[in-house]
Amino acid sequence: MQSTNVLIIGGGPAGYVAAIRSAQAGIATVLVEREKAGGTCLNIGCIPSKALIHAADEFHKRIESGSLANLGIVASPPELNLARLNEWKSGVVGRLTGGVYALLKQAGVRVIHGKARVLDGKTVEVEDVEGQTGKRQRLVCQHLVLATGSEPAELPMLPFGGKVMSSTQALNLETIPKTMAVIGGGYIGLELGTTYAKLGTQVTLIEAREHVLPGWDPELSKPVQKRLRELGVELLLNTRVESGDAVTGELKLKSTDDGERTLQVESVLVAVGRRPRSRDAGIEGLLLDMDGPFIRVDEQGRTSMRQVWAIGDITGEPMLAHRAMAQAEVVAAAIAGQRRRFEPAAIPAVCYCDPEVVLSGLTPSEAKSQYGDVVTASYTFSHNGRALTLDAAEGFVRVVAKRDDHRILGWQAVGPNVSELAAVFTHSIEMCARLEDVAATVHAHPTLSEVLQEAALKALGTPLHG
Ligand code: FAD
Ligand code: NAD
Repeated sequence: MQSTNVLIIGGGPAGYVAAIRSAQAGIATVLVEREKAGGTCLNIGCIPSKALIHAADEFHKRIESGSLANLGIVASPPELNLARLNEWKSGVVGRLTGGVYALLKQAGVRVIHGKARVLDGKTVEVEDVEGQTGKRQRLVCQHLVLATGSEPAELPMLPFGGKVMSSTQALNLETIPKTMAVIGGGYIGLELGTTYAKLGTQVTLIEAREHVLPGWDPELSKPVQKRLRELGVELLLNTRVESGDAVTGELKLKSTDDGERTLQVESVLVAVGRRPRSRDAGIEGLLLDMDGPFIRVDEQGRTSMRQVWAIGDITGEPMLAHRAMAQAEVVAAAIAGQRRRFEPAAIPAVCYCDPEVVLSGLTPSEAKSQYGDVVTASYTFSHNGRALTLDAAEGFVRVVAKRDDHRILGWQAVGPNVSELAAVFTHSIEMCARLEDVAATVHAHPTLSEVLQEAALKALGTPLHG
């Protein structure tokens, strides 16, 4: 039986960051990963999806109705070499996962490739999966960190298999399907549905609620829905799948607006959410306090069992890589005896649809219910010089602030490259900036970020450019 001080199960953004920080603090650290370090994010999530989104965008710009035509540029119709695209995407993933392994090594983390099973709060059995030998070894630790992440949720009437795929398969297609039903108009449905529509697939997007990104502000989803329709996506809102056949690709749909209909497609992407892997790896045997399917943790990442910690997607929403990494830093610091808490003023959320959507901090309705009297103002990209020169003037930025002292509580944006505004939105909230701070900051011209300044000026009642 081998022993270590810290044992981390799962090498995704939560687990690998905790491992690096823990080892950097001089603590003996073992990381157990059954597949590849980088987890969902680097291997089958954030990174391959963003690579495909970029490629699809470049491809679509060059087709006859794409945006280059608006600029008077006549491009010959592009051809897609999907094998080459997949190779490039795998290269990006490989570079980043290789970087993670190098960082783990440099920090002195011992990485074990194997499937971990928790026996008790201090003992873990690891089955060798790499050599397929089935050999098992036991490790004891003082601190056990659970970071096993999440996996795609299935629809009971349409399990994965045959023509029915999860995001994992949808990120690795070998041919572009002629037709695709995308079930779920959330993050994955929008990002991958838009990607395949741009690559030439006839996409039907099926969303159970009244607008896409239903957990978000309806104003933000309007430009996205408009663009989906421009791209030829058939948008079926208030619609659910009643039943389906994974072999034939026939789906029976029921809409609260239009009744029942049948859809025949070549492939089906189910993107109706993800569920935590908190029941895997023997974790359920620990009988930890739970919040539904998620492991309950305090602001330092402690579970209900002493010296058992949990981070990342298994601890609940928002299931985002940057939140997992930030939690991991706190847990590693807490194990090292530092006084740190995970209490961010805002965790930005970005959907890489077209146009992109960002939220940071409170929406107007959340701000009203927490603070009562608030001021909000939005400014449109159609008045912004940089957006016009990019031929991408759709969308707006909105600011939410307290009315009494003008402290900024939240930002929402939909528009060109607004993902890159997430940091400045979140800085202003973390630093308790007031509207006056943003309004008086000299913003470079012409940039998309000038829209923030204009929104702040408008909220102060002193708009400059309308
Ligand atoms: P994971 O990344 O899921 O890592 C868990 C790791 O644990 C995995 O490597 C797994 O193999 C390992 N593991 C599980 N069980 C065991 C076991 N028994 N033994 C050993 N190892 C085990 N988030 C963003 O912030 N931005 C994005 O743009 C974004 N895009 C996404 C796109 C897609 C298609 C998907 C699916 C997700 C996306 N996400 C995005 C979400 C993001 O990937 C997750 O929030 C993040 O990966 C969670 O990190 P984690 O470490 O908690 O879990
Ligand atoms: P999601 O929760 O974002 O969206 C699921 C959507 O499916 C919702 O709009 C919901 O109303 C709809 N839905 C649920 N059941 C349905 C049904 N039976 N029929 C039709 N529609 C139905 O989930 P997701 O898109 O699968 O993404 C999972 C998670 O992965 C996200 O919550 C997020 O944490 C993470 N993610 C993040 C990013 C990013 O940060 N850019 C990208 C992809 C994934």
